[in-house]
Amino acid sequence: MLSTIQLTELDREYLWHPYTSFTNPLSVFPVRRAQGVYIELTDGKKLIDGMSSWWSVLHGYNHPAINKAITDQLHQVAHVMFAGFTHEPAVKLAKTLVDITPAGLNKVFFSDSGSVAVEVALKMAIQYWYSQGQPQRTTFLALKQGYHGDTFGAMGVCDPHSGMHHLFHQSISHHLFADAPTSKFNDEFDERSFANFSQILQRNRQKIAAVILEPIVQGAGGMKFYSPVFLQRVRELCDQVDVLLIADEIATGFGRTGKLFACEHAAISPDIMCIGKALTGGYITLAATLCNDKVSDGICRGSSNVFMHGPTFMANPLACAAANASIELLIKTDWQKKVARIETQLKQELETCRTLPGVVDVRVLGAIGVVELDEAAKVAEWQPRFVERGIWVRPFGKLVYLMPPFIINEQELRQLTQGIYEVLSQAD
Ligand code: PMP
Repeated sequence: MLSTIQLTELDREYLWHPYTSFTNPLSVFPVRRAQGVYIELTDGKKLIDGMSSWWSVLHGYNHPAINKAITDQLHQVAHVMFAGFTHEPAVKLAKTLVDITPAGLNKVFFSDSGSVAVEVALKMAIQYWYSQGQPQRTTFLALKQGYHGDTFGAMGVCDPHSGMHHLFHQSISHHLFADAPTSKFNDEFDERSFANFSQILQRNRQKIAAVILEPIVQGAGGMKFYSPVFLQRVRELCDQVDVLLIADEIATGFGRTGKLFACEHAAISPDIMCIGKALTGGYITLAATLCNDKVSDGICRGSSNVFMHGPTFMANPLACAAANASIELLIKTDWQKKVARIETQLKQELETCRTLPGVVDVRVLGAIGVVELDEAAKVAEWQPRFVERGIWVRPFGKLVYLMPPFIINEQELRQLTQGIYEVLSQAD
């Protein structure tokens, strides 16, 4: 077995981590195992996970029911191509997803990651219009401060300033961006704040294939929680001008915002919806793009006929088995109560950070708690301080935030909120 030092040295030598550099690497902490809400490092230190491994681990690590579902499936078939074959884990999962997602989303396309689910959604929209004899409709209308993934199609619909547009400007497709919603989640909706979106959509309706947005929570683009009325207005206008609506629920899906899917806050159903992250309870990479009959019929009855996408690991049986077990765990328990309890505690305890120097906002929605700073968090300095306190908090940009697994208890959550308060209050 490699020692902790060997692990970190070899890692530094060979491995890229997300958004990092070999010339100016950040510390990485070698993990040995994980159990419940605890991630255990190779030196024996245990950290309470405040990130759910990037919005994905709902029921904690090493959960017996998900472990069993995967191992049972492993003894049946670990993988089989999805062209010409089907299998029970995929069929069960598709049926469940159709049942639990907003009404009308009746068809499911499985893929490997959130970004690919977004690529699939964009392609569905383009192919839909191609089949309707409108091949010029290839432009998307997205929101400023939105984030939809790191692949080329997805990058093209991310915020043009905070995303990676400047780096890949020459290579990505160029789309339209409307002002991000300004009315906050609980604010009375300011109708004027919809004018910019409305104008852009109406003016360009002939060339727009779809609107794409993250419903209610703009995640990686700034962790902003916006008014459900904005989403209702978007749905109404898309219907009025006949433009498709893609909801990217990759981060918000599976209860994180207090509803099973964030679209439910506005009681709307998109034409196409992307899910991923928490789909397998954080176990194995799997994503899905769902669409309604209008889109599936439109593609399949039209001139393009077949939908042109087919990943090698489409509907991987182990991943589908994990997803089936995770969703069963979620919907068979009183998850709303758990999320409501986390929300109440986050509201009470993160509020103390509001008075700290450099803090400009504290906001909470469901099991998401955000402390926004006036300048970028000093990740290299603060990360080890969080680890010293036995907690795993990974700030990005000006945001220090929590999105713990739903199984976290009061004491563990308090350790996270107190740790954030202490690290921020000692920051220079
Ligand atoms: N869409 C949203 C809203 C996301 O938050 C993310 C990931 N942070 C993605 C898409 C991309 O997902 P993945 O990282 O699995 O490719």
